[in-house]
Order: sequence, then C-alpha cells, then structure tokens
Amino acid sequence: MSEVGEVSGRDRAMAEEGQVAQPLEVSRSREDSLAHPVPLPRAVDVVVIGAGVLGLAAAWRLAAGGAGRVLVLERAHVGHARGGSGGPTRIFRAAYPDVRHARLARLAARVDWPALERAAGQVLLHPRPACFFGPSDGPMAEYADAVGRSGAPIERIDALTAELRFPALRFDTVPDPVILDDRGAAVIATADTRAALVRLARAGGATIAEGCAVLALEGGGAGERVRLRVARAEATDVDRPAEDGVSIHAEHVVVATGAWLGALLPALDAAVTPVRQRVGYWKAPGARRALEAQEAHEAPDGCVEPPIWAYVGHGPDDFYYGLPDMGGEGLKAARHCTIGGEHPDTPRDASREAAADRAEMAAVADVLARVLRRPPSTLLRVEHCGYAMAPRERFIVGPVPGRPQVFVLGGGSGHAFKFAPLLGRIASEWVRDGGFLDPEAAALASEWAPSV
Ligand SMILES: Cc1cc2nc3c(=O)[nH]c(=O)nc-3n(C[C@H](O)[C@H](O)[C@H](O)COP(=O)(O)OP(=O)(O)OC[C@H]3O[C@@H](n4cnc5c(N)ncnc54)[C@H](O)[C@@H]3O)c2cc1C
Repeated sequence: MSEVGEVSGRDRAMAEEGQVAQPLEVSRSREDSLAHPVPLPRAVDVVVIGAGVLGLAAAWRLAAGGAGRVLVLERAHVGHARGGSGGPTRIFRAAYPDVRHARLARLAARVDWPALERAAGQVLLHPRPACFFGPSDGPMAEYADAVGRSGAPIERIDALTAELRFPALRFDTVPDPVILDDRGAAVIATADTRAALVRLARAGGATIAEGCAVLALEGGGAGERVRLRVARAEATDVDRPAEDGVSIHAEHVVVATGAWLGALLPALDAAVTPVRQRVGYWKAPGARRALEAQEAHEAPDGCVEPPIWAYVGHGPDDFYYGLPDMGGEGLKAARHCTIGGEHPDTPRDASREAAADRAEMAAVADVLARVLRRPPSTLLRVEHCGYAMAPRERFIVGPVPGRPQVFVLGGGSGHAFKFAPLLGRIASEWVRDGGFLDPEAAALASEWAPSV
C-alpha cells in the first residue's frame, strides 16, 4: 500500500495520457496502523461497508454495544481523498434552516460527541466563535426562525453587535443582513476523530479491512442472511480489485458507502448525487502574526483571527464558508457546492482540472474580499473531496425496503460529519433493536427512509 503522495500504477498511466485520478493522499500519521492486510472471516454478525466517518462511527457503536463479530470493509483506506470524510477539519454548528436538524445537532453536542470524547480520552470538538450571515431576503431568514425554535445556543444579533463580536468579519457589504452568533459551534478535528473511531472499534473487537471492495450484496430479506462478494484491491488502486472474490455471510449489513451507494444498491442509485468540492487553504496573515507576537511575549497588535463563518446568499450555490487556521494548515475556505454532479472515480484531464481549480478559487477569493477585513492573499493548496447529495440535503438512513437486514447510513449531503457519532448510534440501535429509539431521530425517520 502506498504512503502519502506515492503514485499508483493506474495514476501513472493516466498522467501519461494527460489525465489525473483524484489523488488518494492524506496525512496517514495515525492511520498507518491499518495498512496491513487482515485475514477475512467468512461469516460474521455485522458487516459495515465503507470506513468513512459514518461507517466507522457505526462500527464503534456496534462493537462497543456487543453486536458480536463486526467486520468493516473499505475498498480504499481510512481518510482517503475521493471520499467525503478526508481532510483535517469540519464545522460543528447548530445553525440550520430546519428546526429538526438544529435539534439533532444539539443532541449530538450534548450526548454523542461527549460520549465519543470520553471513550477516546481526547478533545475532538474545539469550540470556536462562529457567525452565520446573509441577506434577509435569502435563506438566512429560515435559519433565524429555525434556530429560534430549536433551543440551540444561537443568538440573532444586529450588525453593530456583530462588528464588535466578530471584528475579523465585514457586514457592510451585505444588504440588510441576518446575523447569527452560534455559541455552540466548534471545529471538528477530523483526523483525530477518524483515528479515535478506528481505535475504539478495534478495541471493541471489530476488524477493519482496508483495500477490500464489496462487489455484490445479495439477500437480507427478513431473517435472511446477507451474502457479500468481496475482493481485495491495493487500497491506493481501488479501481482494480482482484477478479476472484471471496464470499462472506452476515446477519446484518450497514451500507455506509457515501457517493458509491448506487453501485451496491442500484435501486437507490438516483437517491445520491456525487458533487465534487474544491477547498482552498490560504496563508493566514492574522494567525501568523498572533503566533509570532505570542512567541515574542507581545500583544497581537491589530491581529484578529477569523471565526468559523458562513455567508449564505441567494440561490443554492451562493453559500461560502471558512474556518480558522488549525495546526498551521492555513485558513480554510470554500463554496458549499450542492449542484452539478461528478462521480469521484471519473478520470480527469490535468489542465482542465487546474483551470477549474483556479476559477473556483477566484470565486472564493472574491467572497473572502467581501467578508474578511484582512483577506488572505496567498493560496497554499486546493483540496478535493466529494459530497453525496441527497434530495433536500436529507440523509438516507434506514433499512432497504423489503431487506430489513440491510441498513443504509448515508446521503451525507455535505453536512453529516457533525452527526456521525449520533448516526452511528442510530445504526447500531437499529441492528440491535430493529427501530429508531431516539425521538429526535424518529422525527426524521420517515424523511430519511431509503425509497426504491
Ligand atoms: C469538502 C467537504 C466539507 C465538508 N464540511 C462539513 C462540515 O463542515 N460539517 C459537517 O458536519 N460535514 C461536512 N462535510 C460532510 C461530511 O464530511 C460527510 O457528509 C461525511 O464525511 C460523509 O461520510 P460517509 O462515511 O457517509 O462517506 P465517505 O467518507 O465517502 O465514506 C464512504 C466510504 O465507502 C467506501 N466504499 C464505497 N464503496 C465501497 C465498496 N463497494 N466496498 C468497500 N468500501 C466502499 C469508500 O471508499 C469510502 O471510504 C463536508 C464534506 C466535504 C467533502
């Protein structure tokens, strides 16, 4: 299995043809321990397909909850760049335009993240100031209404108060702004979270097998075992699994395959649209000055670190967000792209790819110039990653109709990381008890249900 930045045979061949595959690079420092092939059992109690954050969270809860022999099968490796769970950070927020999502975020913050942090013995959510804003004739009006009814620790503030609380942001460029101060927001340390879930799942007895692609999934009617066809692949060359696979039987299967949902469950193919994301990391002038000043034991004169922020404008793709510099990665900023659609496995032309990166980063830089008092000028790198968009950004969580032994945990729609420990608990409760025990989750169950 290759390490960071190493190029697989397929990538090399494509590069020679002027195409580039999505690189599978990721910081592997804590994830290397998974790099050794593990023997595959032929029968287990539960198979989790996909080791993105949702699959890992389900595996942890299942293993820790005594679900028996749990096997996680991942065709690539934990944290890889074609999936939805890579990269260093995510936003935790309760600011949502739907009161049920706002309540669900509160529940995750109150119950599920603390449970994970306690079990892991480390902090995974790092509280930071957060401001969500946009014109009053856009969706922010719905956000304000929903959070007002949710009981979340979010305050609607006027522009003057916002200038004082968030001196790094500009509000004078937004006509008649609606501004929310989300005091429960945090930056999620995603590599730590992935590593903690892996550790905890394994401590509970789960086996995590990277480089193992599920090629087919059969059975799973009431009381019927599920049969899986599984082939090994180099985890960095996932498009070429070995042709001869092995059969594995399971009492239950959790399908957490993100943008690849339709490959195993063709009846659900239309339920998820893969949408490519381009995320920029900029050199953070403010944060650097703060650090230098700190080292020189001086006050950070005039230096203000941007908070977590989101500008929610008009139309589905006029939504931009940013995160402060965490651990020297730079200021993160991107557009929340929800429409378009491009499969993560599609080979790409290198020059078109670079041009698309440039165009997207120019659009993000325009917004940074409008919303930050001291916009960064140096782009450090562009990260690629994929959303699995479901209609109306709802998750797809529930048993496959007619196949109650097969549970879908997906449709992350660009906002599921914050809910991962909660969704993992829901999947494990379903496997154990056959239902949604949590009232907040039950309130959304009918909308989440996979429909074929
Ligand atoms: C740029 C970006 C920014 C985001 N920002 C936020 C944010 O700020 N806050 C937030 O809460 N959420 C955010 N999200 C969303 C969140 O990160 C995702 O919803 C979540 O990580 C999706 O996890 P997943 O496990 O469903 O999917 P994935 O991480 O894609 O995992 C699915 C896994 O299944 C594997 N797989 C597929 N098919 C097979 C097969 N046949 N056999 C074996 N394995 C298979 C894949 O290789 C993959 O690893 C963001 C997402 C992106 C991309």
